Amino acid sequence: SRILVTGANGFLGAHIVKEALDSGYIVRGTVRSSEKAEELKKIFPSAKFETAIVPDLIQSNYTEALKGVTAIIHSASPFVFEVNDHKKDLLDPAIEGTLSVLRAAQTAGIRRIVLTSSIGALLNKPELLFADVTYGPDDWFSMTYEQAASGQLPGVVVYLASKKLAEAAAWDFAKEHPELKLTTIIPTIIYGPVIHPISSLQSINTSNSVIYSLINGAKILPPDSVPTFCDVVSIARIHVKALHSDAAVGKRVPFSKGPATMYQILQIIMKARPELANRLPPVPEVDPIAGKTISRVNSMLAMDTLGVEGLELEETVLQTVDSLLELEKKL
Ligand code: NDP
Repeated sequence: SRILVTGANGFLGAHIVKEALDSGYIVRGTVRSSEKAEELKKIFPSAKFETAIVPDLIQSNYTEALKGVTAIIHSASPFVFEVNDHKKDLLDPAIEGTLSVLRAAQTAGIRRIVLTSSIGALLNKPELLFADVTYGPDDWFSMTYEQAASGQLPGVVVYLASKKLAEAAAWDFAKEHPELKLTTIIPTIIYGPVIHPISSLQSINTSNSVIYSLINGAKILPPDSVPTFCDVVSIARIHVKALHSDAAVGKRVPFSKGPATMYQILQIIMKARPELANRLPPVPEVDPIAGKTISRVNSMLAMDTLGVEGLELEETVLQTVDSLLELEKKL
């Protein structure tokens, strides 16, 4: 059957397209322009890959894009922190963008929706990911729309709020439309190889940009903001497996493979890629966050029910670094 994947040209979106094609789906990916559609078709030359142009997550009409579609993975959402307008550039596309996809699905009679949320949607402790807790499907970040839209908060917090508010809006919508079968996937920070089209490493996706900064001139270790990770292929696979899992209907599916501090990441690169030593910042004597507890994430549904184990940190980091070095040569 045919599924729609929004944000198909993004870091995660492209991996979702690949996993879905590999699982036998016909995949229609949305992008914002015909140029982006052409670039993406070069990456997925398969006859089972189609594109649809959805220039605006809020205003666009999905009628054409949804023809013949039986399920939707909605992954498009702004993942940037520096924007001009928190409401227009972060909150509205995330929240209203999600609702407009859901309304279009409802109108078209499409019942199965998988939505990409974020660990940000869970963080309800003042110490965020340094609280001695296990975050799980019952946790909700407390930020309200009014607080997030106040213009007073840093972009990163508004981004996390945009994800929480979009996910909450989707669950509210599903409550009003009980025939809708919704699953939300809740990734921690995602690292991994880049398969989506990018024109320069300056425009590398936000989560991989932290690893790129390590091998591209960081003088000191970047701060640890999201010290818990997953790899992009596994999280893409979780999205696709959720699509055909009855057990995932109506569920929030958080996923972390475990802790990932900047210190650990730097040490992994130092050890396994010694030729990069002169590009890396010095390894501090101790992990700057040693002694702090890193929160756990209940990943049982993904691991046990959907059967996705996730890659270890070392493999994930090395795949990411190798992919970034490969891109450096090409671009
Ligand atoms: P990318 O920036 O690589 O991809 C984002 C995708 O969303 C792109 O296809 C982008 O299109 C599209 N998009 C962004 N803003 C808009 C908009 N206003 N209108 C239409 N399309 C838009 O980021 P990721 O792949 O990392 O993120 C994918 C999803 O995963 C997002 O929902 C993100 O919140 C979520 N996520 C990511 C994590 C991570 O660590 N990477 C962790 C947790 C959740 P275009 O290329 O045209 O800008």
